[in-house]
Amino acid sequence: MLDYVDLEADLDEEERMIRDTARRFVDEQVRPDIGEHFEKGTFPTELITEMGELGFFAPNLEGYGLPRVSETAYGLLMQELEAGDSGVRSAASVQGALVMYPIHAYGSDEQKERWLPDLGTGEAVGCFGLTEPEHGSDPASMETRAERDGDGYRLQGSKTWITNSPIADVAVVWARDTSAEGKPVRGFLVETDRDGVTTNKIEEKLSMRASITGEIGLSNVWIPEEDVLPGVEGMKGPLSCLTQARYGIAWGAVGVARDCFETAREYALDREQFGGPIARFQLQQEKLADMATDITTAQLLAYRLAELKERGDLTPAQVSMAKRNNVAMARDASRTAREMLGGNGITRDYSPMRHLANIETVYTYEGTHDIHSLIVGHELTGIPAFE
Ligand SMILES: Cc1cc2nc3c(=O)[nH]c(=O)nc-3n(C[C@H](O)[C@H](O)[C@H](O)COP(=O)(O)OP(=O)(O)OC[C@H]3O[C@@H](n4cnc5c(N)ncnc54)[C@H](O)[C@@H]3O)c2cc1C
Repeated sequence: MLDYVDLEADLDEEERMIRDTARRFVDEQVRPDIGEHFEKGTFPTELITEMGELGFFAPNLEGYGLPRVSETAYGLLMQELEAGDSGVRSAASVQGALVMYPIHAYGSDEQKERWLPDLGTGEAVGCFGLTEPEHGSDPASMETRAERDGDGYRLQGSKTWITNSPIADVAVVWARDTSAEGKPVRGFLVETDRDGVTTNKIEEKLSMRASITGEIGLSNVWIPEEDVLPGVEGMKGPLSCLTQARYGIAWGAVGVARDCFETAREYALDREQFGGPIARFQLQQEKLADMATDITTAQLLAYRLAELKERGDLTPAQVSMAKRNNVAMARDASRTAREMLGGNGITRDYSPMRHLANIETVYTYEGTHDIHSLIVGHELTGIPAFE
């Protein structure tokens, strides 16, 4: 496996163990039939309980059965899962960073006890409802609203592009509380079997096919007061979750690129044209050298983020830079690797084309590449250019 500047040397025993466990899980449980799932547009749902048993959901949190492993270990986990498929890493990211994290950070003791153990083991599945049909990059303009009704709220609105909503037991739904002054955004733990909740599946995706994506329809859904996250108000709630998930994506993208690189290198050494392996051509070696260099610089950025996160100094704009850079790098690497595989590169027998299709989603979700340019640009100039 590519590790050009020997980052492995600085890993502790637990980090190596978690990385190796995830790598083995991907080799044994993901790689054998992920191509088939991708082609059929299905997600191997049994992976959720298997990942839960292995402790892959939010292991960087503490309490409620969660071990609080290092941020590097968590990053390596995301890297290995996404080397298998972005859909598998997405499932772990949503469950851990977008559902367990907000409950852990902003939930009441009762909410934590009710949900964290079950979500941690994969007995319950969660999803994160922020994006709406008319509001993607600009979620602060959301129309989903919650209005006081007795000792609870009535929710009205719709969310779309929600990973795992059709199989979720609980949705963290972000809505404007129209009964409160200033109509702040608040987080609601919506059990999907409540009256008025629908979770239709979005079919016909050409990217992230081995992942379930759906809508969340909320038609006059009653939610008791105790299912509202008490610890946060405003866009800080959803945005802080996105920072956690984007951190995982910055690592995951390295996994995608590494898998593409390893596939291309192996292929180039095996495939013979003009009387010898194509790896002997300077044109192919340049592609490998570019890929290896880009992967290594992205890895270094990810490792540095882990150090900053560990000591509590990581800023959202730093995460934006890494998500933006590393995903764009993985997009380029998957295209180059596909190219190096020639005609075979467009089949499901090799991973680069699947990664290339998936990375279009990763490039778009959790803040598009453009939006992260604006966040970094804002940080660098002090001038917001969003509107
Ligand atoms: C497979 C998949 C899974 C997803 N999972 C989830 C999930 O679990 N939960 C969830 O809440 N959401 C999820 N999303 C939604 C995702 O986060 C949004 O698609 C994303 O935020 C972009 O929103 P949009 O699709 O509405 O695009 P738009 O916001 O309409 O953007 C369209 C284009 O305009 C550009 N653009 C927008 N604003 C600006 C600007 N100010 N300046 C310059 N360019 C701009 C964008 O960069 C983009 O290229 C998922 C999406 C996909 C595809």
